[in-house]
Amino acid sequence: MLLKKREVSSKQRVLEMIERRLPKSHAKYDNFQEMLRRTRAGYAGEQRVDKEWQEVYLQHAHHLPIETIVVSANPSMIMSPTFLSQPIIHVSGLAERVEQLFKQHQQVYLSENDLSELSTHILKMHTPTQWTLDIKVDELKKGALCSHCHFDHALRYAHGKWRCSNCQSIDNQSMLLALHDFRLMVGNNITNAQFRDFFDIDSEKAAYHLLKKLQFEAIGVNKNRKYIITTNLLE
Ligand SMILES: [Zn+2]
Repeated sequence: MLLKKREVSSKQRVLEMIERRLPKSHAKYDNFQEMLRRTRAGYAGEQRVDKEWQEVYLQHAHHLPIETIVVSANPSMIMSPTFLSQPIIHVSGLAERVEQLFKQHQQVYLSENDLSELSTHILKMHTPTQWTLDIKVDELKKGALCSHCHFDHALRYAHGKWRCSNCQSIDNQSMLLALHDFRLMVGNNITNAQFRDFFDIDSEKAAYHLLKKLQFEAIGVNKNRKYIITTNLLE
């Protein structure tokens, strides 16, 4: 059983935002694209290993002492002789390796209760790393960007709709993705003035209604009112 749900890392989320927001002509664009490609491949590898673990656990319910093994999900990994003595295996050998460990360690070291307490304790200690970038906010594109136009053009809000200034398509979801990006770019709260500046909206009233509809928790009053952008906007 996997107790820690696998989640997309903050690094991947930031790099995906960069892919949408950093102009393709920027000197570092290709570097970030490469970094994103590797991060996504890493995440896919972790999911591959998680899947293998689930199958291993379905068949057994013993308790094991702690053993450390590096499990690689990269199919093109080549094990050079220097690594042969190290605890590194390919994911396809995971089940077999665990089988061996079960045979090696027959004794039950921890009761079901101890194990459950220990796992709660470890999960509580976990603090995810917040990944930040050496890019200035004003280097990134503002606004709700059009997914049909490869995020190169912004949508304008008028008459209750978000319409692309280039292809004219309407996409009311684009604002949510933009707020998700704003959270990664600037921070987890936004004022009416910041909202208008980011989305290029003139009317304070229109911004107020859009923010109100989102039902974000708000702190402060009048001009200082800050809306807390929720983390689950895209779910
Ligand atoms: Zn468009």
